Amino acid sequence: MNIQEPFSIEQFYKLISQDKLMAGKCLKCGKLHLPPRPLCDNCYNTQFEWIPISNKGKLLTYTVIHIAPPQFHHLAPYTIGIIELDDNLKLPGVIQNISHEQLKIGMHLTVHFDSCNESQTWPPWPKYHLKPVDIIN
Ligand SMILES: [Zn+2]
Repeated sequence: MNIQEPFSIEQFYKLISQDKLMAGKCLKCGKLHLPPRPLCDNCYNTQFEWIPISNKGKLLTYTVIHIAPPQFHHLAPYTIGIIELDDNLKLPGVIQNISHEQLKIGMHLTVHFDSCNESQTWPPWPKYHLKPVDIIN
């Protein structure tokens, strides 16, 4: 994948909107950065490439949001979790398709891309959510 775009969180979300989950890989030391950043915190290199990463991982931690910011009022209460992807990368996201009583630390989740709403001005919020592996849809 040869994408000559800035290694920024904005570009990360643009790729998400194209159903691509990608991280910035340092061309010098090989460290993966998620979210991408313009400077490697391991070797201070500024040369990166975009590489596709796994959309599967395990739930590390989660919290239930009862008091939501205005744009998320209609979703509350909802659950925010952090998954550790297969590449040891961590990604936060809203967990859907499961009640928080059923959540277990370490359970397998996938990153699911939400279909893009053309009428929304980018970026209102991340175009993905986390959901359990075993539950269809
Ligand atoms: Zn590096």
